[in-house]
Amino acid sequence: MPNIVAILPAAGFGTRMGSESPKQFRLLDGLPVIVFTLRRLALCPAIGRFLVATRADEVEALSARLAEERLDRPVEVVRGGDTRQQSVENALAEVPADANLVLIHDGVRPLVTREQVERVIAEASVCRAAILGIPALDTVKEVKRASLPDDAALILTTIPRERIVLAQTPQVFDAALLRTAFERAAADGITASDEAGLVERLGHDVHVVMGSERNLKITRPGDLELAEFYLAQERAQQKDTKPGRSGK
Ligand code: C5P
Repeated sequence: MPNIVAILPAAGFGTRMGSESPKQFRLLDGLPVIVFTLRRLALCPAIGRFLVATRADEVEALSARLAEERLDRPVEVVRGGDTRQQSVENALAEVPADANLVLIHDGVRPLVTREQVERVIAEASVCRAAILGIPALDTVKEVKRASLPDDAALILTTIPRERIVLAQTPQVFDAALLRTAFERAAADGITASDEAGLVERLGHDVHVVMGSERNLKITRPGDLELAEFYLAQERAQQKDTKPGRSGK
């Protein structure tokens, strides 16, 4: 059984949400999104430890709140950084040396399923690096910010849709490989928007397994309402198949 540690970056400011409270602390089904997300990941018994990165001024309060969850595995809250990459790096520094796999999951993707988490772990156990992703439905253009109005850009090329996948989390990596990827990024002064980007730079294959649009990242106004809607659908389906389960 591999020793798996989960990192949940949750130190964002939520500026795109347009609200006072950062998205990881807004309520979904009455629970702070980060607590909901942690509960989802904890449905996966293969994960042996959780590290949550949050803003410095939230570390104490979040530690106390997560302790109330009384999970049967250790949960530690660490101080995040100015970028998602820095937040993950801070947590990675706390990953025990004997961990085999490190799983990173956005603290604001509450509706990930146990099946999805286990599928990515299984793939990474074989190939050392795997993520969840979904096909692009829209046509994707590469653009450059030319001297055009602020709300316009110049199209350079169209990227064939069949070649596009939108990366989600979890992203799961062999622990040594991930540490090397972070060391190399630091040495080269690279900041990427996900961990796969850092591992790809090493020339290592990263597999992508099919995710779902329901595994949404709570980012913009309206996303919480959409998540509530998906959750209600999920529960209705569960009721049909397994009466009495809460679904949280
Ligand atoms: O900003 P983005 O949408 O990439 O955020 C993805 C996740 O990374 C969120 O859970 C957010 O809280 C986290 N994050 C972080 N530290 C930052 C910025 C974002 O942990 N400095």
